[in-house]
Amino acid sequence: MASEFELIDRYFRKDAPSALLGVGDDCALLKVDGTLAVSTDMLVSGTHFFPEDDPHLLGRKSLAVNVSDMAAMCARPKWATLALALPAADESWLKAFSRGFLEIASEYGVDLVGGDTTRGPLAICVQIMGEVQHPLRRDGARVGDDIWVSGTLGDAALGLSHLLGKIDLEEDAKHCLACLRNPVPRVELGLALSGISRCAIDISDGFCADLLHVLEASKVSAQVHLQDLPASCVLEKFRNRPEGVRAMLSGGDDYELCFTSPEEKREDVEKIGSGLGIRLTRVGKIICGSGLVLLDEDGMPMEAREKGYDHFR
Ligand code: ADP
Ligand code: MG
Repeated sequence: MASEFELIDRYFRKDAPSALLGVGDDCALLKVDGTLAVSTDMLVSGTHFFPEDDPHLLGRKSLAVNVSDMAAMCARPKWATLALALPAADESWLKAFSRGFLEIASEYGVDLVGGDTTRGPLAICVQIMGEVQHPLRRDGARVGDDIWVSGTLGDAALGLSHLLGKIDLEEDAKHCLACLRNPVPRVELGLALSGISRCAIDISDGFCADLLHVLEASKVSAQVHLQDLPASCVLEKFRNRPEGVRAMLSGGDDYELCFTSPEEKREDVEKIGSGLGIRLTRVGKIICGSGLVLLDEDGMPMEAREKGYDHFR
């Protein structure tokens, strides 16, 4: 049976060229240029994933969701730490998990510089650090700004509903499960928005809930037309059904960016989208007031219940 230190050596001790000192000492040593952006996300078995989920994809997702927070701040991700609680030293699980984690690390230029490994109920806690020059803060939205969303909404949530047996996606299951298990953080988009947007959030808890965070922080309101929200061809099939509407509005796990920018920057935003090959959709406007005004196909305000986010209140 491998000891904790052997496991760390085998699976998590990697070269960290961007650090003065990486895994192996009491602390990592990092040289920071300018402002450090720091964020943590925890994934708990049974809450954020199923214990039997593929460890390779789980490794990818646990770092990808943290990288997504960097993207939403216009930060360049650089370093991560990984705290793991494991029920047992299951080497085949650790091997696959670390492979997935380190794949995302290398795809996004992140060095793993430390962490902690302990016995306990399966939980994964990642801290990510990066450098930021022009942060995209949640309190940066201004009246008159356009509201934009990258990619499409709701596919991951449809995938989850399929797993839970609430809907049967048949041949579309593959696409939606890939969205759920293998999200793509929008780092290049976040960085490109520097100077064009002042305000962004990544959509992890659902479009309405995350946009509301922006509205509350910025002390403004927003008007959004349901029919303007970007949908994949899979979600289009559910668009007129409550499952589809709920998935887009409150599904979560999209990891797309929702950002605002002044009207005069519309062309710049469109150029960024076409340059990066990312669909960017203008979904509404920032207006005076508070709360989110969501309009249905007939231009009528929808109830919170229909928006699907009042069940936590
Ligand atoms: P300490 O007793 O000082 O907390 P540990 O024995 O927990 O140190 O860890 C030894 C070294 O291995 C430290 O540098 C720590 O950052 C690193 N480490 C532990 N677990 C992980 C992990 N899961 N991923 C990356 N580094 C880890
Ligand atoms: Mg420790």
